[in-house]
Amino acid sequence: MAAEARAAAPRIRHRAALDAIDPYVPGLAPVGPPDRALKLASNENPFGPSPLAVAAARAAVEGVDRYPEPGAGALRARLADRHGVSPGQILVGAGSDEIFHLLTRAYCEPGRRAVMARPPYGIHRIAAQSTGAEVVLVPLRNHVHDLAAMAAAAAPLATVFVANPHNPTGTTVRPEELRDFVERLPADCLVVIDEAYHEYVEPAHRATAIDLLALHPGLVVTRTFSKIYGLAGLRVGYAIASAEILEPVERIRPPFNVSSPALAAAAAALDDVDHVAATLRGTEISLAALVAACERLGLAHVPSQANFVLVEDRDGWPAALAADGITVRPGANLGMPGWARVSLARPDEMHRVIEIMERAVRQRHDLADRASSGR
Ligand SMILES: *Cc1c(COP(=O)(O)O)cnc(C)c1O
Repeated sequence: MAAEARAAAPRIRHRAALDAIDPYVPGLAPVGPPDRALKLASNENPFGPSPLAVAAARAAVEGVDRYPEPGAGALRARLADRHGVSPGQILVGAGSDEIFHLLTRAYCEPGRRAVMARPPYGIHRIAAQSTGAEVVLVPLRNHVHDLAAMAAAAAPLATVFVANPHNPTGTTVRPEELRDFVERLPADCLVVIDEAYHEYVEPAHRATAIDLLALHPGLVVTRTFSKIYGLAGLRVGYAIASAEILEPVERIRPPFNVSSPALAAAAAALDDVDHVAATLRGTEISLAALVAACERLGLAHVPSQANFVLVEDRDGWPAALAADGITVRPGANLGMPGWARVSLARPDEMHRVIEIMERAVRQRHDLADRASSGR
């Protein structure tokens, strides 16, 4: 009876554009005892947050009866100074993910294109799809953005996304190619260069699109406090663009989108150069160890400039890790079936991960050898 009444009631229909969106599948929390459980599924900083940032957040909690500073003025001023732009060229968001949603709400709509890699960074796609824009996915070439093909796909008024380094691959585009690409794109396009992993890139490959702002009026560069600064749980990211590009976005930004503890922590994290340096050193050690292990085991891997590595999913090593309380991200969740994305852990944890991977792969090979020699 009640069920019939429900079936007969008019349905409240959400916007049709949302039907195209596959729900985001987050990295799984590991199961197991806390001293063994390890989540290597979301590219978080395994060295923890900066102690200076934690102290600043704690102090700010005392004042949470008040709304945060509207427009994040103090942090914006710090960031403007750091990047040599004016405060009006900085937009602060609850993570860079909020910024992608705000940018697409301001610049994408049905009839306009959003161009990005296949596979894309998931939130770029969801943000664009939510507006009803036509999402055009341009396949990576050898795991790297095909900038020429992306430029060719950019119709008038398109929004183009490039994550540099890319996620899930960890690859970067060559600095000269990025410059040519930005210069060549039509002036009526929005060009979003997502530099979430910029700080991890080796100096020889490192180039920031912030240096290219003068070359294209629609260039937007995003950064985050979630990765090298270790503040993923506080949600702070920012965009740098011309004040003209950001002005309509500011009209729709919720005025208190970033909490006061988060703003305080982010400003303090900028001061903690030792924390950033220690994170980089540890990440480098873990990256080298994981790459060496892949080479010993004959597991294909994509050369990474970020804090994670995409590794061939073979011989059951991801399941062996999961059995020991360690989660990685299945490539199938990221548009890369046959691969698994491993976030770099602390070097001591990385050794444990590598041991389990080695045992899983060697066991599988021993079994295969025995089977083929008829024993
Ligand atoms: C992790 C990540 C981000 C950061 O997102 P936040 O919302 O700032 O935590 C942005 N872009 C890419 C490609 C990422 O992998």
